[in-house]
Amino acid sequence: MAKRDYYEVLGVERGASEADLKKAYRRLAMKYHPDRNPGDKAAEESFKEANEAYEVLSDASKRAAYDQYGHAGVDPQMGGGGPGFGGANFSDIFGDVFSDFFGGGRGGRGGAQRGSDLRYTLELDLEEAVRGTTVSIRVPTLVNCKVCDGSGAKKGSAPVTCPTCAGIGQVRMQQGFFSVQQTCPRCHGQGKIISDPCDGCHGEGRVEEFKTLSVKVPPGVDTGDRIRLSGEGEAGAQGGPTGDLYVVINVREHSIFQRDGKNLYCEVPISFTDAALGGELEVPTLDGRVKLKIPEGTQTGKQFRLRGKGVAPVRGGGPGDLLCRVAVETPVNLDRRQRELLEEFRASLEGNTTHSPKASGWFEGMKRFFGDL
Ligand SMILES: [Zn+2]
Ligand SMILES: [Zn+2]
Repeated sequence: MAKRDYYEVLGVERGASEADLKKAYRRLAMKYHPDRNPGDKAAEESFKEANEAYEVLSDASKRAAYDQYGHAGVDPQMGGGGPGFGGANFSDIFGDVFSDFFGGGRGGRGGAQRGSDLRYTLELDLEEAVRGTTVSIRVPTLVNCKVCDGSGAKKGSAPVTCPTCAGIGQVRMQQGFFSVQQTCPRCHGQGKIISDPCDGCHGEGRVEEFKTLSVKVPPGVDTGDRIRLSGEGEAGAQGGPTGDLYVVINVREHSIFQRDGKNLYCEVPISFTDAALGGELEVPTLDGRVKLKIPEGTQTGKQFRLRGKGVAPVRGGGPGDLLCRVAVETPVNLDRRQRELLEEFRASLEGNTTHSPKASGWFEGMKRFFGDL
């Protein structure tokens, strides 16, 4: 079975706080605790799953590795120093009573297992996301050892039946009044042990390898979109099928444009004279500059819509619009002549508010507020 996303397991957002994680985990652990669900295998699996997810996400460095590489970043078999069941965080919540019930190896029922899905976060510029691109990525992954062909046993030898569990993969343990079925600690649930391990993979059967993949990013993708590369995840154990690789898009902030779905937004400064007299403005679009006519009397905050200059969404449909918000600039560093002109202009406005559409309304409002009207 594919390993589920840890955030999904706990039912929290990716940006969840430590407190939220703890709360979510505690709720699941209470619900699925084996003590409350005796003999319920599904509950036991859910309990283990939540436990593992919490152990990774509650550790800042493991969480960071997981966010970047997915399961491969924290999988103990990837050398990342991995979760395992029932660790410090577990007893931290429940006390030590239950902490070693689920000790031992991960995921062990023995037999073929599908390899984990992997996640890779791909950072793109806005232009790349809008137009589409092809990028090479390097991902760490587990592949079958070529020396032993994935068996983990040295050439000429073969895995032998585990003497601890007699090949069952599970052992029963008595702890106080609990009798608990546990994954065999010797063979980690595989039922077989390797007496003469392969030198290439130290008996693991799989080795970590970086591989370079070419990812075709279609035009119009946005942050959070996922591209699935089927069969590019981890190799399965014991000849199980390979997992998938999910490339998750993260679009970097742009210096000029903000994106909201298929629309783009930008702010365009204009001089107060252009705003007053009207004029023509050069505004940026993703396809280059275009001219925009500004009518006389344009105010700050006025938005001009350039139809079709937004983004064509990856899921189809026409392109969105570019919305340019005008910001009128106050002139600075005036020389004497300019100052004189403005003094003269100010004098011409004296006692006349018909030139200030906002101000006249504002003064009316203020008078009403103070009861002068
Ligand atoms: Zn090997
Ligand atoms: Zn065993």
